[in-house]
Amino acid sequence: MVPPPQTDGCEPDLAVVGTWLESNPDVLEKWLKEYASAELRERAFQAINSPTTTTINHNSKTCTSFNLTNQLQIWYPPSVSTASLGGDNERKFQNVRPQCDFKSLEESDLFMELIRDIANELNIDKLCHKILKNVSLLTNADRGSLFLAKGPLESRYLISKFFDVRHDTSFEEAIKLARSEEIRIPFGVGIAGTVAQKKSMINIKNAYEDPRFNKEVDLRTGYKTNIILCMPICNYEGDVIGVAQIINKTDNSPEFSNHDVEVFQRYLTFCGIGIQNAQLFELSVLEYKRNQILLNLARSIFEEQNNLECLVTKIMREAQDLLKCERCAVYLLDLDCCEANHLQRIVERPRKLIQRHPPLNRMVSGSVSGHDMIENFLRKPSPFTVIFELREGGNKTLVSRPSSFDLAGSTLAQIAGYAASTGQILNIGDVAEWLCEKHSEGDAESARTILCMPIMNGQRTLIGVAQLINKDNEAPFTECDVSLFEAFAIFCGLGIHNTQMYENACKLMAKQKVALECLSYHATASNDATLKLVKEDIPSAERFNLYSFTFIDFDLTDDETCKATIRMFLECNLVQQFHIPYEVLCRWVLSVKKNYRPVKYHNWRHALNVTQTMFAMFKTGKMERFMNDLEMLGLLVACLCHDLDHRGTNNAFQTKTESPLAILYSTSTMEHHHFDQCVMILNTDSNNIFQALSPEDYRRVMKLVETAILSTDLAMYFKKRNKFLELIDNGEFDWQSDDKKDLLSGMMMTACDVSAIAKPWEVQHRIAKLVADEFFDQGDLEKMQLKEQPIAMMDRERKDELPQMQVGFIDVICLPLYKVLSDTFPWMKPLYQGTAENRQHWQDLAEKVEMGLTWIDHDTIDEPVELFPELEETKDILTVQTLHPVSSAPQAEVKKRHKKLCYML
Ligand SMILES: [Zn+2]
Repeated sequence: MVPPPQTDGCEPDLAVVGTWLESNPDVLEKWLKEYASAELRERAFQAINSPTTTTINHNSKTCTSFNLTNQLQIWYPPSVSTASLGGDNERKFQNVRPQCDFKSLEESDLFMELIRDIANELNIDKLCHKILKNVSLLTNADRGSLFLAKGPLESRYLISKFFDVRHDTSFEEAIKLARSEEIRIPFGVGIAGTVAQKKSMINIKNAYEDPRFNKEVDLRTGYKTNIILCMPICNYEGDVIGVAQIINKTDNSPEFSNHDVEVFQRYLTFCGIGIQNAQLFELSVLEYKRNQILLNLARSIFEEQNNLECLVTKIMREAQDLLKCERCAVYLLDLDCCEANHLQRIVERPRKLIQRHPPLNRMVSGSVSGHDMIENFLRKPSPFTVIFELREGGNKTLVSRPSSFDLAGSTLAQIAGYAASTGQILNIGDVAEWLCEKHSEGDAESARTILCMPIMNGQRTLIGVAQLINKDNEAPFTECDVSLFEAFAIFCGLGIHNTQMYENACKLMAKQKVALECLSYHATASNDATLKLVKEDIPSAERFNLYSFTFIDFDLTDDETCKATIRMFLECNLVQQFHIPYEVLCRWVLSVKKNYRPVKYHNWRHALNVTQTMFAMFKTGKMERFMNDLEMLGLLVACLCHDLDHRGTNNAFQTKTESPLAILYSTSTMEHHHFDQCVMILNTDSNNIFQALSPEDYRRVMKLVETAILSTDLAMYFKKRNKFLELIDNGEFDWQSDDKKDLLSGMMMTACDVSAIAKPWEVQHRIAKLVADEFFDQGDLEKMQLKEQPIAMMDRERKDELPQMQVGFIDVICLPLYKVLSDTFPWMKPLYQGTAENRQHWQDLAEKVEMGLTWIDHDTIDEPVELFPELEETKDILTVQTLHPVSSAPQAEVKKRHKKLCYML
């Protein structure tokens, strides 16, 4: 410690002493307490409080107390200037009770202090406590109570917040007392109830003489209530939000004076605002907490979307936390979807969507009885397939897959079932009373209160029910709980739905992957076959007659068809140009061949012929001058793949039968599938003939293959034809831009696809019969499966119309196309000429058929009927083996009729 400054009998240096005292307040305090005389102390205090010598700084916000002696306490209200304390301070300072300090304050200043005291208090409990203490100070009341208004408009009531708070009751004491007993007073009952109801104060001079006064409390506590001042507390809008009441005066005055009433009233006006603020704050804190919980829930829903059990557990835990209940369960419907269900759901057309439930109605247990529920269950048991239950305080989730027997034996499941089948919210306040006695046994025995709510998915389809059991405070679930739970159920619905869809999608994807692996294993060529082909010599193009538009595959073996294909790729120098490993080319050709079905016309041979025509167009037709190597590669690949996996039925048939393919692609259905198959083969190990292409070339060639394959849909041809004709009419010579190249390639694809029409007559008429047979097969299927009359072209009964239909086909599609192509590209003329010749043949035949001179089913249909030997009859006519309507007529009858028909035709 720094020694005290020397005085040396001289005038002490005040500044030095002052500084020293400032830095050693303990010494000053000790000296004042223990050594200074009473007189000196008194002087010191007076000096301190005189305006000119004030040295104590007051904290502007809070009260500062400065202990000087054991006996004395100075209490400075903030911002009260010492000047305003006036001259009779001594008396006041000797009083240890702080309220006496206020007495002498300027009333308005004191008032402002007390207002400030409450203005910043947002904790409603602390606020109410402060109000009561301050009111006691202001009015010298002995004790005070405060009630807050609650409940819906039609049945409002007061709830005691604090009662019998004295000026010196601490916050903790007040809270303890308030929690020990909750007093509830309906509006209009007793003194406080009347004040609340009438919104006017009551000032009673003799409590025991007032009939509204309740003596019971006095009897219990031994306190004697004499006078009461009771006043309403209103909010900004003037509505009663509470009542404050003060009892007896500390100075034993016989009544609360008009002045007391005025001060009390003024003060409560501000309290009303304070309480409303605090209540709003409390609400917003609650709202914030709820939002936090919902936000957390939303977050977990997105995190947990890959596991239903985790998700539901999380949801149940949050619900339990939020709504403070003992148990929680989630019942799910139809979760046990088998694979067929997944697929069905995915391929389901929008019009077949599951029925929608009407919007939720709220229903409390009052409007439906336990008996109704049991009846409902017997009539319409709910097919819950999985039940999740949160047990052991939320630490364990029980997952069960109940049988219908289990469900029928469970009252809780029946309650959930009611919510599910009616789509209504059930809030049951007293389970035992609600259920008939016999049903309160079993699993609902320990349930006191239940809140049960349907869970909908995003499409408002019911997917389950959430059930909360036993609210912690033993009270029923409130309206507020129901609202919150409703918001909750919406999140649950979304989350569960997403998770289910995700799980289904995962399963489907895995399934598809397996299927694809399995398929591509079986669908691609074996190594043995590939190596065999690799080793063999590839005959020359001349040997196969590949350069000719009159190429015929009839005499080629299957092996030879593969070699012919390879020859075309070699002949165009594509293998070298694009670094196609020879073994990969062989495997790819074999794989493509393997992926054509053995249907009558749209099979591998058709693909080969189409490809050969494209090759002949490039070479003999001299179209290669319009194409670069990549385009030639793409077009040959497109031709060879353009009917992959054809099923012998057309697009219209896919649509009519709603086949999965038609659901996948609504237009150019089969063509999309042919392309998909093409991609599938290319993507299978060691089948990718494009493997050495640069990414850019790869992208271009794939796009070209796709466009070319899609353009073999005749519907597409009709769309593109006019544009093409327009270009030709304008004398177009430059086919290099992308759109023009697209158009030209498309026309070439169609020209190749229908090129059987340009083959020598013997070939054309044999192929026409194959086409007709395939069509008739489809017609038969339509009759059998769809009970529909097929179009003429596919109607076996109208096979004699074939020649006429061929003429129509040539006139509408083939001749105009070959005409414009050979006019523009003269080397293509053979296609036009061949077609024109065949038209003549079909025309002749149609006329013969018209005259009854021939029958198209004979191998040589243009020969006169009389030349056919008798034996021929049984061999033809119906070449189709499958599904065609079997004639009920006996064999002899058929022969006879046939013969007759032949003559007739
Ligand atoms: Zn085709």
